[in-house]
Amino acid sequence: MEKLRYERPIIKKLETGMPNKFGMRTEYTPMTHIDGVAVKELIKEYGSPLFVLSEKTMRNTLKSAKQAFTTRYPKVQFAWSYKTNYLDAVCNVFHQEGSWAEVVSGFEYQKALDNHVPGNKIIFNGPDKSDSDLKRAISNDSYIHIDHLEELYSVISIAKELNKKPRVSIRVNMDTGIYPMWDRFGFNYENGQAWDAINKIMLSEHLELVGLHSHIGTFMLSANAYAVAAFKLADLTVNIQRKYDYHLKYLDLGGGFASKNTLKGSFLPGADISPTFNDFAEAITGSLINSEIDPHHLPVLILETGRALIDEAGFLLGSVVANKRLSTGKRATIIDVGVNIMFTSFWYEHKLTPAQEFTHYTEDTIVYGPLCMNIDVIRENVNLPLLNKGDQVVIHYVGAYNMTQWMQFITLRPKVVMIDLKGKSHIIRDNETNSSITSLEKIPEHLMKFEL
Ligand SMILES: *Cc1c(COP(=O)(O)O)cnc(C)c1O
Repeated sequence: MEKLRYERPIIKKLETGMPNKFGMRTEYTPMTHIDGVAVKELIKEYGSPLFVLSEKTMRNTLKSAKQAFTTRYPKVQFAWSYKTNYLDAVCNVFHQEGSWAEVVSGFEYQKALDNHVPGNKIIFNGPDKSDSDLKRAISNDSYIHIDHLEELYSVISIAKELNKKPRVSIRVNMDTGIYPMWDRFGFNYENGQAWDAINKIMLSEHLELVGLHSHIGTFMLSANAYAVAAFKLADLTVNIQRKYDYHLKYLDLGGGFASKNTLKGSFLPGADISPTFNDFAEAITGSLINSEIDPHHLPVLILETGRALIDEAGFLLGSVVANKRLSTGKRATIIDVGVNIMFTSFWYEHKLTPAQEFTHYTEDTIVYGPLCMNIDVIRENVNLPLLNKGDQVVIHYVGAYNMTQWMQFITLRPKVVMIDLKGKSHIIRDNETNSSITSLEKIPEHLMKFEL
């Protein structure tokens, strides 16, 4: 072992006011390394800003989610929600861990096929599936989750045309005690629409009803809402059993589990209040195993968990551009990370930590991005140690939705790297360049030239 360097003992003044009502501010320990790789080295090699994903965290998070469900219920299948993060390397990590693909558009469906996900392991959700999308999905034996009656009738007529018997489910929306209710997707449970659609499918000789689907909301902080959803899906399952002597193959409880992020306006940090996988698993499996569903024909429990599996694995590294005092006297720090690449800053207060040691002095600071736009605010008010030009910061919990909802605006989108299990970093998406952006543009002949 290398001999440790001698460090002079120091006397450190304890700041009154440093601990807040939740204890010491752990947010301000510097984060110098990600999975053993130095933040400074990553920025030196790949530039700033930079998205970094930890393969280890992704795999471990999925393992703990699986553990929570499989210890409570015998048949569990995860399906990776493509829209949460559809970079191919990310999808393939989850596919290697056994996850199917859950897609909500023709584009995402093609991406899953290109990643070599077998057609019969793709779940096709969403309200807008074109006839050609449906034809392709039916030909590939994918699971089609029907959103509305128009789609049901399209699927029936395409099934006739192709002489196939597609495997379908319906999406069911319901009152789970969380408002506003997500009733724009699928068929409603309480008013009988769902039961009506089920009967239409059961009586059609062109369709095979294989399951029921719900996705009750997003960033759900109530595990009990899932208990209600599972109870209502189980009720429909039992009614199908009774009326048709028929057993559904699966119940899909969708995604929406909260990650460890902190919602804007939340009194407590997300890491302290978000339910755990065990909480969600207990709520869902409890409803299923205690229902009247025939125990000899237990449906597979499918989960389409997105954000809760990847948020923590994602970091956004940035550099300080400048500091200034606003007219109010408030300190402002400008970093090179804009809201265009950090879409989730509109609804989360992302944890932000310096990437180097700092002095003990802290100050309420507003953190701006680099865009020439008033709404480019990363944190409206965060008590930060002083950062200097050239210092670096790590923004946490950015793995979900940022790499799909980001937009090219004013600046170019940066590289995304993944750190593998051995601590080696790989570029999984290159940065944009002027020519990668303009390659899609066309200039009409009469606009080719000008003189100034
Ligand atoms: C978006 C979505 C998911 C994933 O949601 P998360 O909040 O990321 O867990 C799962 N299923 C469906 C149908 C979705 O639309």
